[in-house]
Amino acid sequence: MNDTIFDKILDGRIPVETVYENEDVLAFRDINPKAPVHVLVIPKVRSERFAELAHRPVEETGRFFAAVSGVAKILGLNDKGYRVVINNGPDAGQEVEYLHAHILGGRTLNWPPG
Ligand code: AMP
Repeated sequence: MNDTIFDKILDGRIPVETVYENEDVLAFRDINPKAPVHVLVIPKVRSERFAELAHRPVEETGRFFAAVSGVAKILGLNDKGYRVVINNGPDAGQEVEYLHAHILGGRTLNWPPG
C-alpha cells in the first residue's frame, strides 16, 4: 500500500491540529471544513476502506467507534447533535484511501446529503 496523506499525518510528516489521540486513533481538524466543527478520526491500524471492517477484529472496530463517539463528546457536540460520515469508494467521493470518520457539527445539517 502506498502512503496516503493520512499515513504522513499519523507519523508527523504533515502537521495537523490534533484534538484527541489515544493508542487506537488520531483525531484532527479537517483542512477544508464543511461545517463549523469538522474533525476526522483515523484508526492507527490502517484499513483503506470501511468495507474492510467486515474482516477486521470486532474489538478493534469497536474501539474505533467508541473513540469517534468520545471525540464528539469532547468537541461539545452531544447536546445539539452532529453527524458521522464515512465515505466508502468512488461513488461516495472517498478521496483518501485510508479509513476515516468525519464528525460534522456546529450547524443544522441537511438530510439527505447531496
Ligand atoms: P474523503 O472525501 O472522505 O476521503 O475525505 C478526505 C478529507 O480529508 C477531506 O475532507 C479533506 O479536506 C481532508 N484532508 C485532506 N488533506 C488534509 C490535511 N492535510 N489535513 C486535514 N484534513 C485533510
